[in-house]
Amino acid sequence: MIITHDGPKVIFEVGVVDHTCLRCGNKDKSLFYEYASTFDNKKICYCMSCIIMGRSDSSNPIRGINSEREKMMLNYHLDFDLNDIQENASDKIVDAIDHKHHLLLYAVTGAGKTEITFKGIQYARQKGLNVAFVSPRIDVVKEVYLRLRDAFKDAQIDLLYSGVKNVYSHMFTVCTVHQLMNYIEHYDFIIIDEVDAFPLPDEPLLMSVILRAASKNASIILMTATPTRDMIELVGKENIVTISRRYHGHDLTIPKNIYQDIEKYIKKKRAPHKLISLLDGITARDRKALVFVPEIKMLEPLKSILQKRYSRLESVYSGDPERMEKVQLMRDNQVDILLTTTILERGVTFLNLDVIVLSAERFDFAQLIQICGRVGRKIGDPIGNIWFLSSEKTYGIKETIRRIKAFNKGQAKL
Ligand SMILES: [Zn+2]
Repeated sequence: MIITHDGPKVIFEVGVVDHTCLRCGNKDKSLFYEYASTFDNKKICYCMSCIIMGRSDSSNPIRGINSEREKMMLNYHLDFDLNDIQENASDKIVDAIDHKHHLLLYAVTGAGKTEITFKGIQYARQKGLNVAFVSPRIDVVKEVYLRLRDAFKDAQIDLLYSGVKNVYSHMFTVCTVHQLMNYIEHYDFIIIDEVDAFPLPDEPLLMSVILRAASKNASIILMTATPTRDMIELVGKENIVTISRRYHGHDLTIPKNIYQDIEKYIKKKRAPHKLISLLDGITARDRKALVFVPEIKMLEPLKSILQKRYSRLESVYSGDPERMEKVQLMRDNQVDILLTTTILERGVTFLNLDVIVLSAERFDFAQLIQICGRVGRKIGDPIGNIWFLSSEKTYGIKETIRRIKAFNKGQAKL
């Protein structure tokens, strides 16, 4: 079923019962708002957790329409051939659809995961199964949508994320995980890209949203470079496909850890000399740098210190209205150094890129793996450099280096 406020069918008599929202599953009392109706003074309680999708409350029904399924022959086009490892993973996905089980695609960053799913999507639509490609991150959703649209030229693909609703048929959807709240047992093949990304691991509710949107015989494909125990449990140990090599075949870059307490320098408004010598080297070699910081408030003071030395430098964060323009300036070679929060840990690709992580001790393992994944993604520059500047060598730092070395040896067993 599909929840739509003007649907003919009553799915739930009311949206909220005893501080439980039947649409999003929220049970947190602090996320409900209660007031007395001006009409009959009756108490009405509504859910604030999913208010962005329209109101779910204790007085009105949740309406919707029945799910439909339709076979569709879809062709897709790829500019390159999948290599043997990708081809094998792609067949495993088709097999999972056929045998109605879940699958974990445990793949290094830059493995070409999206393209690996194309055959599965084609196969599922041919069988009349409803397909959803979802991610917790809006940036990833937009990027995946463009790639699917380029590849599946004749397909009508729904695109849904906060504020955007382009719907054709609900049969082939690209959306954020949140948008699945409006679907009940509807999708038969669900691909979750970047399943380790915020906010999915922190909000167990979202996983239950995915499971409810899935039909009884659905296969769910989890794609990640850092699987958790919960993910392995969901798919079963026998249903893990590992890709430990990037699509271009080169090793992943091993990060170098350098001791530097960057925050001490920022406090004293002094230039951190080890960072400066790295940036001098990068700009002298005509390369670009993404410099990651763990929190927004470090951006401005750092920018004002570094701007004295580097004029082609910018900073971005998630709420920055000029975020897209600044990323484009970097692509267009107008900017050499981009200071950023974790907002650019996924979904961006630049040529000739090196990465520096400041206060690396404050990032966790999954974040560091993603950040390292930014370098060496292009065939023309498959290696790149990564430096962690940290004041202590944490588990996250050690595990990132250990895991990358293991991937390079083809030994990234879970
Ligand atoms: Zn809700």
